[in-house]
Amino acid sequence: MRAKVAVVGGGSTGSSILYHLAKRGVTDSVLIEKGPSVASGQTSRSTALVRTHYTVPVVAKMAILCYHAFKNFGQTEVPGYSAGYVETGLLIGVSSQYEQSVRQNLDMLHGLGAVSMFVDKNELKRLEPLLDTSTFSSVVFEPNMGYAEPSTTASSYASGAQSMGAKVLPETSVLGIRKTPEGYSLSTNNGELRVSQVVLATGAWSGPLFRKLGVELPIKVVRHPVAIYDRPEEFRGVRPVVFDFPRSAYYKPEGQNLLFVGTMEQELEANSPPVDPDNYEQGISFDETEKFTGWTATVYPTMGEKGRFVRGYSGVYDNTPDQQPIIDELSAYGYPGVHCLVGLSGHGFKLCPEYGRIMAALVADGRFHDYDVSVFSLKRFETGELLKSRYAISTVG
Ligand SMILES: Cc1cc2nc3c(=O)[nH]c(=O)nc-3n(C[C@H](O)[C@H](O)[C@H](O)COP(=O)(O)OP(=O)(O)OC[C@H]3O[C@@H](n4cnc5c(N)ncnc54)[C@H](O)[C@@H]3O)c2cc1C
Repeated sequence: MRAKVAVVGGGSTGSSILYHLAKRGVTDSVLIEKGPSVASGQTSRSTALVRTHYTVPVVAKMAILCYHAFKNFGQTEVPGYSAGYVETGLLIGVSSQYEQSVRQNLDMLHGLGAVSMFVDKNELKRLEPLLDTSTFSSVVFEPNMGYAEPSTTASSYASGAQSMGAKVLPETSVLGIRKTPEGYSLSTNNGELRVSQVVLATGAWSGPLFRKLGVELPIKVVRHPVAIYDRPEEFRGVRPVVFDFPRSAYYKPEGQNLLFVGTMEQELEANSPPVDPDNYEQGISFDETEKFTGWTATVYPTMGEKGRFVRGYSGVYDNTPDQQPIIDELSAYGYPGVHCLVGLSGHGFKLCPEYGRIMAALVADGRFHDYDVSVFSLKRFETGELLKSRYAISTVG
């Protein structure tokens, strides 16, 4: 089989790349996914928060563009399809140690056009009357925030691309990549595929495949547990998501009655051993549940009285040392035309619209003109030019 471009990995990243390639007219492309369908990997486990609050300016810029893509999904982004986006707003409970950096960050975000402000007690009571703010030194409100349905988003991108002529090959594992005079040959469990260019969007499974190319990625795969609770009657409906800086936690009211709780704790990830993405504890432990339940009861007293733990699960993050992605072409390793977009570090879902746009331009034109994405090169981990967050909370980046 032949195609112009092979995109390996059918998560939110690969599906968006396939769509944006097709939108540019590169329709002779194939999305190769080892699972039974798109979103078989970490995308399906994502809490899929879509926010604009970042501290690295280029990432904040990307997040703002992506927020608008999600908000307009089905119209300007993949017309006719859905991302299941729900607008909720975000409340950030700040602790005194972050007060100064949050203030400076809001200035940066305002310069980029983000909407974000400190709110007083009266306004807070209106936005979320059930939130106990006594452990926060102040609270920031960002109306431009919500969550999407991650599997729907990936399949919408893939279907949108297929409607323009691109192909999706499920249950197909790329086992190796070999140079040919015309480009590359991909060996798979379903035969050989010859292409001119390859994009690797293989997420937490990237290590072994890159190693076969002689590229050692600075990616650590870490487990990320999430607890799900049932909300009592008075806490039902669409409510703001809450970031809790003192506890490095997030609370995501989902649908009408659920509350997803997870951690943004860097130490937890730094100290945790790397895991095998095909063989790790996919549930949640008693200790983790107890900790999340305690945090939830502190921040929402009504949950302490009437909330009910439903279940928990764990996914994995493909973490890089600076918690930002690797967007590069492997020419320096002898593989021109092999691109990668991996190491998304636990916050890569919301950025998938821009990831698709960036990679489609790099493949089709050899350049992305809108802003400088060379800061995401793989080389930065050798030169030490890491991207620096203002906060020590890993996924807030
Ligand atoms: C519990 C949890 C909560 C999260 N919450 C958020 C959030 O609120 N907001 C946010 O922005 N991000 C969040 N993230 C992170 C986000 O979900 C991920 O960064 C993003 O979905 C990764 O997408 P991906 O396409 O790169 O990876 P994946 O979805 O894992 O896709 C990679 C795909 O490649 C396939 N593959 C790998 N190797 C091969 C091969 N050799 N051949 C063929 N196919 C292959 C895999 O099967 C997989 O489907 C969360 C992640 C988790 C786990």
